[in-house]
Formats: sequence, structure tokens, C-alpha cells
Amino acid sequence: MNHRHRPLSAAAVDGLLLDTSPYLSCDDCFDRLDTYVEQILADPSRVDVAMQVHLKGCGACAEEAEALLDLLTS
Ligand SMILES: [Zn+2]
Repeated sequence: MNHRHRPLSAAAVDGLLLDTSPYLSCDDCFDRLDTYVEQILADPSRVDVAMQVHLKGCGACAEEAEALLDLLTS
């Protein structure tokens, strides 16, 4: 009863992958979204692979990033 098998939490997986893979969880992406968008606006040549890979693969976060960009550029 005190040894229930549980799948790795998203946070645990994320921690494992953090240094070696650009994969971000949506929570991590969301945490960094403000900064990311500001950095992109300040320096369009800036590359943030982790964010870019996540946004490419995650419609919800991409939409969020787009909305934020619109907000900051309008
Ligand atoms: Zn996401």
C-alpha cells in the first residue's frame, strides 16, 4: 500500500531531460513564455531551441505565444 506504482510525473521527466533535450513541459514553457517573447522582440535572431521545439509541437502554447506577441507588438 505504501509502494504504489506511479508513472513518472511530468516534472520528474522534465528534470531528467532538462540538460540533454530541448523538451519542455507546458508548465515550463508557460513560465518562460513572457521572457521568451520579450527576448525575441528585443533580438529576433535569438535562438531558444527548447522553446522553439515546444512551440512547434504544442498548439496551445504556440497560440499563447502568438497572443502574447500580438499584445506586445500592437
Ligand atoms: Zn505546451
